[in-house]
Amino acid sequence: MKDTIKLCIDALKDELHSLSQDIWSHPELAGDEKFAHDRLVDFFSQTDQAWTVQSNYKLPTAFRATWGPVGCWKGKPVLNVAFLCEYDALPNIGHACGHNLIAEVGAAAAVGLKAALEHRTDLPAPITVLGTPAEEAIGGKTKLLEAEAFADIDLVFMAHPGQRDVSFQPSVTVTGLTVKYHGKASHASAYPWKGVNALDAAVLAYNNLSVLRQQLRPEWKLHGIIKNGGLKPNIVPDFTELAFCFRTPSIKDISELRAKAEACFTAAAVATGCQVEIIYPNHSYYNILPNATLAQLYKTNGEALGIQFAEPVAHVAASTDFGNVSFAVPGIHPIFYISTDAFNHTKEYTEAAGAEKAQLYTLRAAKALAMTAADVVCSPDLLRRVREDFSLAKQEEQEA
Ligand SMILES: [Zn+2]
Ligand SMILES: [Zn+2]
Repeated sequence: MKDTIKLCIDALKDELHSLSQDIWSHPELAGDEKFAHDRLVDFFSQTDQAWTVQSNYKLPTAFRATWGPVGCWKGKPVLNVAFLCEYDALPNIGHACGHNLIAEVGAAAAVGLKAALEHRTDLPAPITVLGTPAEEAIGGKTKLLEAEAFADIDLVFMAHPGQRDVSFQPSVTVTGLTVKYHGKASHASAYPWKGVNALDAAVLAYNNLSVLRQQLRPEWKLHGIIKNGGLKPNIVPDFTELAFCFRTPSIKDISELRAKAEACFTAAAVATGCQVEIIYPNHSYYNILPNATLAQLYKTNGEALGIQFAEPVAHVAASTDFGNVSFAVPGIHPIFYISTDAFNHTKEYTEAAGAEKAQLYTLRAAKALAMTAADVVCSPDLLRRVREDFSLAKQEEQEA
């Protein structure tokens, strides 16, 4: 089966390359990925008619492609394996996070595994490809989770380009918020005592949070900006707005950090006499739950393909909406090298994500993912261990 996966992906390498290349040359922002959506829908509808493809699946730029038995097979439940494709880009710098390559990995792994399963009627394992838009902004996966797009999925796989090959890279929980101060305008020199200064509230809040930072655990992060600081120097500002992000390694700590921060924002309002509005988004991105069995299988398969794995990088406080998925379905989100030392979200990384030399590494990651899925599909014992790891990781997260 693993040989079939490798042969199939190699045979389709030109189509797969042109898929990611087309997405790379048409960078689209989160939620607006119409070209990428259509290109991927075409790929699954036209390259191989065996896929059932649903365009605009639950979100305008999400899609779903499925192959294989649905629900039950000979009275037994099937094992539904999903590969995720991301395809949103960043403002001004295009595919600087390499999500065009995530789309390619998801597509390649899915067609590779399908080729291996086609002749194994003893293995009732349908394959689902989910196109999950808007990772960089609104957390498309959190919306798809809410819409129950993952309800019938048993295992979920994706891989993200980075600086090194790592089978599991911890990510952190992040939540953002907007804070608005409402004061009262007045002439800043003639009648300042008639005004209520919303900029003072913003500055005090910023300083309160800076003071708080020293008392936080080193792995907790907060960072923010003053988005609106008033209109003119001779008017006491009657409105200001701040945006902040809070990150902790585990979801269980985020409410404590939020409570401390809220006290800072409220104190600034009390001190200045302003009204404060604290607005949380609908979703936080959770940290990714580890799955030791899947990570080890990915490593073993990757090493057989020539991947040299590095240790996870400490203190990288990045976040992904895959974290939320990892709390709902067992899965992995390894990082793969693409022949550059540049960091994600830079112009240099955009170049690397569109370069021909990234292809070898991208397709290698796809093969390792599909081979890992094949391992679990073929072994009830591995599946049991994957599910045990999932339950244990969730339990530890709640108890820690
Ligand atoms: Zn990114
Ligand atoms: Zn990314």
